Amino acid sequence: MTRNTTFKRAVCLAQKNLSGAAIACAFAVNAVASDNAAQSSEPPLGKSATAQTAARNAAVLQQLPFTEREDFASVKRGLIAPFKGDIKNAAGRIVWSLNAYEFEQADKSPDTVNPSLWRLAQLNAHAGLFKVTDRVYQVRGLDLSNMTIIESDTGLIIIDPLSFTETARAAIDLYYQHRPKKPVLAVIYSHSHADHFGGVRGVWKRRRVQGRQGGKSTRRSAYGTRGQ
Ligand SMILES: [Zn+2]
Repeated sequence: MTRNTTFKRAVCLAQKNLSGAAIACAFAVNAVASDNAAQSSEPPLGKSATAQTAARNAAVLQQLPFTEREDFASVKRGLIAPFKGDIKNAAGRIVWSLNAYEFEQADKSPDTVNPSLWRLAQLNAHAGLFKVTDRVYQVRGLDLSNMTIIESDTGLIIIDPLSFTETARAAIDLYYQHRPKKPVLAVIYSHSHADHFGGVRGVWKRRRVQGRQGGKSTRRSAYGTRGQ
């Protein structure tokens, strides 16, 4: 992962938090895909900040109340189980890595980075299963977007099944480790960016079903549910 990728992610999440519409998400997904393809151990390349950029970023420290730390307590509210480490596909390849974001924990942001975005990235790094309120849970930080899980009397309603089958499966499995294993009854995509629907097969499994049509026995594909 490059720093650029991280900040595209941060911008995506920030826009979602602020406006309910993360218009930069698809761009960020592309960046992650290309970074994963590279899987390089080379250090990220980049230019140093110009004097003007460094000065403008430093000025932000005076413009915003960085000593106000309430958000760092709020972001842990409802935490049931933290998540750390990597998520891999069947071939053992890493598709999502929280380890790649550890550099964000440095107290002082590089002079190439707006300190407010750096702080936001640190807040976004809190990954795991959270209780939002009764019957509403969230898995955060296992992808660009968050998965929301609503518990109905008979099963689960998933809002936004993340970008990839593997991350979505890791998210629902984390939930099932701590909550009753009810079936997924419905999936809602909050909007059409890939990080909000691409992982649907991680929570909604394709299977062959037997049926009858016109008096004849038929076999066809359908989507079944996980958790049954
Ligand atoms: Zn989006």
